Formats: sequence, structure tokens, C-alpha cells
Amino acid sequence: MRNVALGDVQKAMESLFLPTDVWTNSFTPLVVDTGTRRILLDTGFADNGAPTTGALRTNMAAAGIDPMAITTVVISHFHGDRISGVRDKAGALVYPNAEIMVPAQEWAFWMDDARMEAAPEAQKPAFRNVRRVFGPIAKDVKQYEWSKEIVSGITTVDASGHTPGHTAFVIASGNGRMIFVADLTNNPLIFARNPEWKFRGDQDPDKAIAARKRVLDMVAADRMRIAFYHAPFPATGHIAKSASDYDFIPERWSSTL
Ligand SMILES: [Zn+2]
Repeated sequence: MRNVALGDVQKAMESLFLPTDVWTNSFTPLVVDTGTRRILLDTGFADNGAPTTGALRTNMAAAGIDPMAITTVVISHFHGDRISGVRDKAGALVYPNAEIMVPAQEWAFWMDDARMEAAPEAQKPAFRNVRRVFGPIAKDVKQYEWSKEIVSGITTVDASGHTPGHTAFVIASGNGRMIFVADLTNNPLIFARNPEWKFRGDQDPDKAIAARKRVLDMVAADRMRIAFYHAPFPATGHIAKSASDYDFIPERWSSTL
């Protein structure tokens, strides 16, 4: 955290009955089945990440979803935990039948070779990973803009700040609407209550805070269901707003859908 003392972060974790000596991050891509299309929002790591990651295909199989049947992969932004799973370590496309859609702003930032050259050494692996994933299929990748329905029922929302092209998605079906907000916050149990905390992963922290407040205000006012990539399972719920902050109210898990 850039603007918060470790002790304050630990206090917030303790108040949520979370361990204070370890930060557990979960990764939750989403599959939307419209009846005619199966759309995967973000792809995890496949076999490119730590040994505790890479369970998406196993979990999809358990849910009866065949990777071959994914028609569309929609990427929120180009961090490794979203794009690495497009292609496995051996180079094979994990969803070979899917059209791949990415934010145009994100493409412009990460595919700029001059920017990669000028980037600090620590950021270069991220630029290289973008090229590993998209380089061989660059001409087939479809770039999308904000405030557009890019595939039936899914509309893009500018949530930039975390990265220059970071995008959220409103998913509509009949009268129902939910929003997938990707990295609008890291774990929302912590960050909804502390919307002004500057998370190290946010590239432009002030812009990220503005986006966080703008989107969470809208979600609270509309009482819309929300899904976060880094919320603990089941990674969805609602947002309540108070005078100074927000509360993430996780969905109660039930074994019956
Ligand atoms: Zn990210």
C-alpha cells in the first residue's frame, strides 16, 4: 500500500477476522452463457503461474464447460493473471475456438515497443508476457472501446487507473444486470471500506481511486450485483454505501443454485 501504514492494514484485516501476516489473493474469471455464446471474462494463468493457480480448466470441467466451447474471451486488462491463460506454457491456445477481445487503450499502452524499452526493468516481464500471449495472434485480436455493447448483453465501462485500459463489464439479461469489475479493487472486503487506499498494483492510484468511487457509487445506487476478480469465493455480492466508504456484502453461498 502506498499511503497506509502496515499497522493500519493489519488492523483492517484483523477486524475482518483475516490473518494479519499473509495476504491471500484469489483469482476468479467468469463464464457468461447467453444460450448461444459462452463468454469467458479473463483467463487466469493456465500453467504459467504459481503451483496454487491454474485450476480454471479443472473447475470448468467440473461445471460442465468445455474449453473448446468457449466462443469469446474478453480481457479486462493486460496483467498476467488475466491474459497468461490465453496460451499455455507450450504455446497452445487454451480456447482455440474463441474470438479474443481486448481493450484498445490497453493494447496501445502495452504493445508500444518504445514504451517497453523505456520501462523500468521490473515492468519488462509484463510487457514481454503481453507479446508472448498476443504476438502470434495479433491480427486476429479484436480491440474494443468503452461504453459499447461488445458482445450480446455485455457492455464495457471505463474503469481505467489500475491500468490505462482497465475495463469493467455490465452484463445484462432481461431485467437483470450485474457488473464484473475486474481490479477496481483488490479484495473488496478490505478496499471497499478503504476506497482511498493506494494499492501498489494500481498504475495511476489517483485515477484508480476516482474510478473505484464512480463505479461503486453507481453499483450501490442501482443495488446491482457485483463480481470482483480478487474477492474470496464466491466472489460476488452487493455494495452498500455509507457516508465515507462502502461495504462489500458477499453473496451467501448455497449448494443449490
Ligand atoms: Zn491487475
